[in-house]
Amino acid sequence: MFETAVRDEAALRAALAEADIAPMLMVLAQLSGDLDILDEVAPHIHGAWSFLESVPEDLKQKVRDRLVAVLKDYAASGREPPHHVPSETLQKMMSAGVGQMVPEEYIPLLVEETHLGDEDTRAVHWQRKPDSLAVGKFKAIIIGAGFSGLCTAIRLKELGIPFEILEKNTDVGGTWLENDYPGCAVDTPNHFYSYSFNPNDKWSRHFSRRNEILGYIAATADKYDLRRYIRFGVEVTTAEFDEHDARWHVTFQTADGVTQTIDTNAVISAVGQLNRPSIPPIAGLSQFRGPVFHTARWDRTVDLKGKRVAMIGTGASAVQAGPSIAPDVASLLVFQRTPHWLMNNPNYHKEVSAGNKWAIEHIPYFGKWLRFQLFWAGSDGFHASLQMDPDWPMPDISLNEANHKMREMIIDYVRKELDDDKDLLAKVIPAYPPYGKRMLRDNYWYRMLKRPNVELVTGSIAHVTEDSIVMEDGTVHAVDVIIMATGFQASKMLWPMEIKGRMGRTIRGVWGDDDPRAYLGITVPGFPNLFLTYGPNTNLAHGGSIIFHTECQVRYITQALREMIENGYSTLEVRTDVHDGYNKLVDEKCRNMVWAHPGVTSWYKNRHNRVTVTSPWRLLDYWKLTQHFVPEEYRAGRIGHAPIIPGQEARVVASIDGLTVG
Ligand code: NAP
Repeated sequence: MFETAVRDEAALRAALAEADIAPMLMVLAQLSGDLDILDEVAPHIHGAWSFLESVPEDLKQKVRDRLVAVLKDYAASGREPPHHVPSETLQKMMSAGVGQMVPEEYIPLLVEETHLGDEDTRAVHWQRKPDSLAVGKFKAIIIGAGFSGLCTAIRLKELGIPFEILEKNTDVGGTWLENDYPGCAVDTPNHFYSYSFNPNDKWSRHFSRRNEILGYIAATADKYDLRRYIRFGVEVTTAEFDEHDARWHVTFQTADGVTQTIDTNAVISAVGQLNRPSIPPIAGLSQFRGPVFHTARWDRTVDLKGKRVAMIGTGASAVQAGPSIAPDVASLLVFQRTPHWLMNNPNYHKEVSAGNKWAIEHIPYFGKWLRFQLFWAGSDGFHASLQMDPDWPMPDISLNEANHKMREMIIDYVRKELDDDKDLLAKVIPAYPPYGKRMLRDNYWYRMLKRPNVELVTGSIAHVTEDSIVMEDGTVHAVDVIIMATGFQASKMLWPMEIKGRMGRTIRGVWGDDDPRAYLGITVPGFPNLFLTYGPNTNLAHGGSIIFHTECQVRYITQALREMIENGYSTLEVRTDVHDGYNKLVDEKCRNMVWAHPGVTSWYKNRHNRVTVTSPWRLLDYWKLTQHFVPEEYRAGRIGHAPIIPGQEARVVASIDGLTVG
């Protein structure tokens, strides 16, 4: 394990000279057991991002020299690294590494996320291994082969539960396959935006571009040999629960229009929230003679060079696409209905240094500590500051003191980026509090707005003619191409599939067009054996990686299937009281969070201002809530028997209050 790190000492030293100091320090403390070095370095680490340190060079050199010595000692002696590090020690190490106290309650989550204990504790194991016949008779259908679908497949495969994936596209990747607009990239750090059980040592950037992420997903599918379980190019149209035999009949269409149905015990939706583009009903749009396309359906056959391009929308997709095409087009008109908040991150455009890459690949635990650092940097830190303070005197523009400070800090940054251009500044600073809509990372957006060939158009679009966009004030903008960066139909979850549960009730009938609810975002009363990943109120808007949430959901779902198989249940259905109690808490919690702010419109909520998409919980809370499937919260059934309703009280309604939520 240590030989590869010390085989070439010059290479090791060269890498350490360039690699981040915090993960290096953590590895040193872990392997040496010497915590005094933490006290020396900690005062110079001011936050979890790598750029928030001011460790003097001589102290850095001391850490490097000692780490080289420790690694050589391990390699020479053949000693095993300490497998169990006491929680108190970990807390001290972690707190030093991110420059702030890491509360004790986070330690088990962080150990799990980083695999510091060298085990995959999110994997599910049999409790009472059923005979292979019982397992073999079971079947699950997973809809979608993106991040969530593949994660589910990996876990089911580990347990030997038979499954099949139905995927409408011709390859794996989901949203990362469909979104291929110029500049498409992740805005969550990649060493954390990746499966915890399949880290990638080779990310070229801190925030990688679409092709590299797609490559990672494809490589994961190959590594776990998943492609043979996937039917590509088939689109699920309906899933209907049959009370008689407690099975779902899943109907899909092949690319050549053939309809087929397969029966299954369980259906797991992994279709995501952002896969159906939203095209606003702008009058006259269909009359436009030039190309019109959505960012998620980018038309590569259209050459934008020298064209007058209109881009409608200023969300995450626009902020990545706009600056990427601006240098090539004759003119870019950006149509902004409401401005977004954008924050700067110095690592956003950077490549991972050769030293860091080498260290991740060769130094045991370096990558794990880096993942910890990034998890901390982008997780629950802002959660408390996103809640409205009822006594705050400026409730329109900010929520509380911390949120107001953030507002001022961002305005300060934007002012500098815009060279104090007061007209532009007035247009781009939102009137609502930071984090009301999704917080974006500045992809040189403001610099783009300063380009001579770019114009920011505010106000409302009245209609489109065959060659121009006409504003409500009568201004006419002649353009050649229209790019719709107008987002997705997020609240209309599972659409356009028709999902029919017990007594023929459809999910649309229960949820309406835009009011989805589920227990933990995963299960819905009346729809037995149906499980959702990335379902209602599970989007992350305060921080975190959606892959973390996916892994929480997949563990829970796998445990639920285990419960069914081990007990011979034909159905498992969440209790209505449990579901309703949970959703009441979700609504109460959301009501006080920034996304429900009356000055904000966004895809996080429905037209009645109910937050339907976004999770109100800290990552820690959701992790705890989904850690153990609780059978008492479900009605189980066996064919020919009355439903089994466990007598105990459901834990959730009582115990969410017990969690220190927020
Ligand atoms: P979005 O955030 O929903 O933004 C849609 C934009 O279109 C908004 O600016 C909206 O204005 C505007 N719009 C909608 N209808 C309009 C109309 N009739 N007239 C004028 N403007 C109109 O969509 P998105 O940018 O595609 O992002 C969606 C989500 O995808 C993100 O929040 C994120 O979760 C994900 N995403 C992630 C990344 C990443 O880096 N990881 C990149 C891209 C997308 P209003 O604000 O006024 O409604």
